Amino acid sequence: MKNKFSNNTNFAFLVRIRLTKPVENTTLYGESICRLCTTIGGGKAIVQRLGDLKKGRRSTWERIEKSYVEPTNKDVTPGDLSMALPARILEDLVEGLDMLAKVIPGVSEESTLLYGPEVKFKAVRLEVTKCMETDQVKNLFTVGDGAGVSGGIVTAGVTGLIAAREIVHREGKKCELS
Ligand SMILES: Cc1cc2nc3c(=O)[nH]c(=O)nc-3n(C[C@H](O)[C@H](O)[C@H](O)COP(=O)(O)OP(=O)(O)OC[C@H]3O[C@@H](n4cnc5c(N)ncnc54)[C@H](O)[C@@H]3O)c2cc1C
Repeated sequence: MKNKFSNNTNFAFLVRIRLTKPVENTTLYGESICRLCTTIGGGKAIVQRLGDLKKGRRSTWERIEKSYVEPTNKDVTPGDLSMALPARILEDLVEGLDMLAKVIPGVSEESTLLYGPEVKFKAVRLEVTKCMETDQVKNLFTVGDGAGVSGGIVTAGVTGLIAAREIVHREGKKCELS
């Protein structure tokens, strides 16, 4: 879609799941959610108006067409995310969007379109100190998603800055990174 112009903006909005004993297989859990979404979406992702989700009804193309946000990606199935996402996740998403609306007014409007699922699997997280140095190997710093210490553009950048500052500090140089 990168060459397609759109008036819309988008971002991933995720709920972190940590399963505890005796069942800890988050990968299987995530995959099961993907399968359920694929089934209910007929092989495509699901799109739903936030207003429809809150009213407990599915979205249809007719309802979406009457709404003022025109979907950029139309190769999806209008439906009901609550048929596919566990209640815990759905409640967190809705509550999170309402909270986000306090700093980004309008984000939690009825016509906001939700596409699902977005499921992210994290790499194994390396054990690092506060300055991103690995516990096992001194002077080895790991940053970003590959090391499992971040999960987005900003946090990946921040972990890089933290490590860079520490390296500069150890070199005995003045840190000019703000
Ligand atoms: C489709 C998609 C949408 C996303 N949307 C968002 C979003 O809206 N907001 C958000 O915050 N995050 C988003 N992310 C996540 C975000 O892109 C990553 O969290 C972020 O880019 C991680 O930064 P990084 O520097 O750790 O790794 P990367 O950006 O992956 O950088 C790693 C670099 O290392 C290079 N590399 C790999 N192996 C080698 C090698 N052996 N030798 C040399 N170089 C190598 C790669 O080519 C790459 O350039 C999205 C990710 C994807 C895939």
